[in-house]
Amino acid sequence: MKQLSILMIVIAGLFVFGCNKSSDTPADPTGDTHTTGTHWDYTDPAGWGDLDHAYATCKDGVEQSPVDIRGFYTATGVEGVLTTSYLATPLVLTNNGHTLQVEYEAGSTITINGQSYELLQFHFHSPSEHKVDGAPYDMEAHFVHKDASGDLAVLGVFINADATADNAGLSSIFDNFPATEVSHQHVTGVEINGGDILPVDKSFFHYEGSLTTPPCTEAVSWNILKTPVSISAAQLAQFTTIVHGGNARPTQPIGARTVVNDGFTVETAGHSAAPHWDYTNPALWGDETAYATCSNGVEQSPIDIVTANTTTGTLGDISADYHDVPLVLTNNGHTLQVEYEAGSSITINGQSYDLLQFHFHNQSENTVDGTVYDMEAHFVHKNADGELAVLGLFINGDSTGDNANFTPIFDNFPTTEVSHQSVANLTVNGGDLLPVDKSYFHFDGSLTTPPCTEAVSWNVLKTPVSVSAAQLAQFTAIMSGNKRPVQPIGSRTVTNN
Ligand SMILES: [Zn+2]
Ligand SMILES: [Zn+2]
Repeated sequence: MKQLSILMIVIAGLFVFGCNKSSDTPADPTGDTHTTGTHWDYTDPAGWGDLDHAYATCKDGVEQSPVDIRGFYTATGVEGVLTTSYLATPLVLTNNGHTLQVEYEAGSTITINGQSYELLQFHFHSPSEHKVDGAPYDMEAHFVHKDASGDLAVLGVFINADATADNAGLSSIFDNFPATEVSHQHVTGVEINGGDILPVDKSFFHYEGSLTTPPCTEAVSWNILKTPVSISAAQLAQFTTIVHGGNARPTQPIGARTVVNDGFTVETAGHSAAPHWDYTNPALWGDETAYATCSNGVEQSPIDIVTANTTTGTLGDISADYHDVPLVLTNNGHTLQVEYEAGSSITINGQSYDLLQFHFHNQSENTVDGTVYDMEAHFVHKNADGELAVLGLFINGDSTGDNANFTPIFDNFPTTEVSHQSVANLTVNGGDLLPVDKSYFHFDGSLTTPPCTEAVSWNVLKTPVSVSAAQLAQFTAIMSGNKRPVQPIGSRTVTNN
């Protein structure tokens, strides 16, 4: 997959499936591939995923780019320092019909959080593809890099056409943009340095995303400089007269991702909270633009599992490899949650996912033939591609004695909102909560809370476990009724393991 990613970026960078390639296209190991790429353009980016099976990730992907970087998405982290070591390079320009691109000779690098990547090329979009708090910039430059393992990292630079004078670092590039499609056009006697385009302050946002053009391949490290650079209105026109009509993909759902703020800037008040939501009227969640999937989605969770309609498939078994971890609890106002440190995983139908956390709902969100259980635990996992899988566990408050496996957790639930509260000297193992019989129902669904992001693999254990009525009351005394109603199954099928 990594090798495929490299090939795709090379194709995307050098040829991008140009459909009117002239006969003087230079020989290149990847050069024949452009003739097989299905034509795409910016008239209907939402339709890219339907143009060609090879572009399916454009609609099925869950970590797509670009995104709207909002304060409420960002977490102040320690992403490290970004330093560039870009050398001067002969000016070689490509117009591939989708963007205008500066090709780079080998030997220039960027270091992000201690990881070194080599610069391949940089190119431009207008307007910017990424937005900050909903606002686009006039342009955005993308510096595309790859490391020795073939992993991709893009440096994004916002550009505003607000200067009275030309930006000298860009003039030799903008003055020579090819007006028609051409690959690797050499401009004799001119050298440029990509470093001349960058702002002095290299504080940045980081998140995991994708190529912003078909095939929309994921696992791309995105690093967006916060400080824009300026060009003149005349320079902006030099670009837009050639690439007219806009070459920016619309922003994509952030989903379960977080944008990491490198810590140079403290987020200001007013950007700190996602739109409020609660369980008073879940049917209205989708009225918030950021939560539109809650009402527009077609594969939403939870559902009522009608056993007569399930199909007996060839699903592999579930095996959980959960380790003992220090007990760390969160009350986020919507649920009570056990945080999990890295290193625990589950295998579902042959696919491995890391356990992130598990949390509880009262009553159960999913139901079986209309049966509602007292509680449901959700074990939330993510795989290396960023795909989510949830293991659902039904819980009934019907045992006479306490369930000792739940005691350390239920005895220590925080009664007020708090994030990552450590409980001294206690460890927990999520595996202790699970029933012996791990037969399950599988279906595709969504997060059951805003933003209701889809493409979540749901796997609901058939066998409930029991806690005491007193334990059930420990939860409901803090939180009750934190469940979303069941959603239409639509054209989905539930597979029976
Ligand atoms: Zn780009
Ligand atoms: Zn849940």
